[in-house]
Amino acid sequence: MKQFVSSKINILSIILLTILTFVITVIYIQFENKTKQLKNDILQNEIFKASEYAYNISEMIELSIKDNNLYSTLKNNLDLRNEIDEKLALFKSSKYLHIFVIKKDKNGKLRYLLDAEEDLEERGFFDQKFDPQSNLWYDVFNSSTAEYAIQDNIEELWITFLYPIKIKGKIQAVLAFDFSANEHTYIVDMITPLKNIFLFLALILAIFLIFSYSQLYLNYRIEKKGFVDPLTKSYNRLFLNSLKTKIDLKKYELCMIDIDHFKKINDTYGHSVGDIVLQSFSKRILNQIKDGDILIRYGGEEFLLLIKKENKHTQVHLIPERIRKLIESRPFAVDNKILHITASLGANNRPYESITLYEAIKIADEQLYKAKKAGRNRVSSTHNFN
Ligand code: GH3
Ligand code: MG
Ligand code: MG
Repeated sequence: MKQFVSSKINILSIILLTILTFVITVIYIQFENKTKQLKNDILQNEIFKASEYAYNISEMIELSIKDNNLYSTLKNNLDLRNEIDEKLALFKSSKYLHIFVIKKDKNGKLRYLLDAEEDLEERGFFDQKFDPQSNLWYDVFNSSTAEYAIQDNIEELWITFLYPIKIKGKIQAVLAFDFSANEHTYIVDMITPLKNIFLFLALILAIFLIFSYSQLYLNYRIEKKGFVDPLTKSYNRLFLNSLKTKIDLKKYELCMIDIDHFKKINDTYGHSVGDIVLQSFSKRILNQIKDGDILIRYGGEEFLLLIKKENKHTQVHLIPERIRKLIESRPFAVDNKILHITASLGANNRPYESITLYEAIKIADEQLYKAKKAGRNRVSSTHNFN
């Protein structure tokens, strides 16, 4: 189980993380909306340009026929038909494709009038039936207003544009062409990687946040159960009791840590200074140990450390000596007093040789007694690794 670490910094960092996640998510949503808006703006602009183009084409047709009936004029004048088809072809480009004109006959069937297509295989001939792919054609005939259909099925954005050809205000045919509106993809392509970075960041932060909140909740539950010593923020004996049956002794090394001559500190500086020393002492060890290690306040100024073997400690049996040095190397500053403190440690390197946890603790305790007897400020272990 993870050592309890409910510090203010922790909660503060979670608050900051929450704010950061929120901000990044908002930026991402803004990007997403702006991209959509931009796409839409470009599309509207393209549609506007297409309708101007369509107007020019329809005007060309209107000027060419010099008559009120488009169908009958074209029917009776093959040369004029060819001439207009050729003129239509001039409007074709890589952007504007498949320019043709369709009429609706008496039976409501759609038929070709003009087609700019030069390829005879592809071309729709005069009066040839036209098979509409959608009802949009009829909408244009009915409403006399331009319509467009976006073709999503292809990677590039192509739009079919339908424009009513009106002569003397009356619709006589529908001009159709396809045009590409791929300018937006260039802009979207530029924005998308940036947008993805924010999405990625938001996701990573959200994962961190979920992890942090679950950690916080875990801490809250441990604290609620009364497993934490309020003074030192290490676990207490109650927690040790709860471990009794659960702990796998093969996975840990045990170490008893006892402050040397602690009574003297109390006697010299008072109990409250002693409390602060205990607090700092525990904090120093908590900062040093890794996830999976467990520090328990075993008695007044005596701690039990369960060192997990599978974690990133290079050599687990060196940890007690490292902790001894950690205490000895830096004096404790309390109330403008500099206190040089040492600790004695007793390690049980093979707790799995014991049947119960308390038996294993007893062996570590015996080693602690040995360390005290040998002069304090030292480590005594059940096994010599030299
Ligand atoms: P040794 O080197 O043999 O360990 O000597 P010691 O003085 O550290 O050991 P001893 O067991 O004689 O004294 C431990 C003292 O710790 C006695 C007790 O008053 C003090 N103590 C226990 N709990 C607390 C506490 O919560 N706060 C303070 N300030 N002192 C405590
Ligand atoms: Mg002591
Ligand atoms: Mg003691």
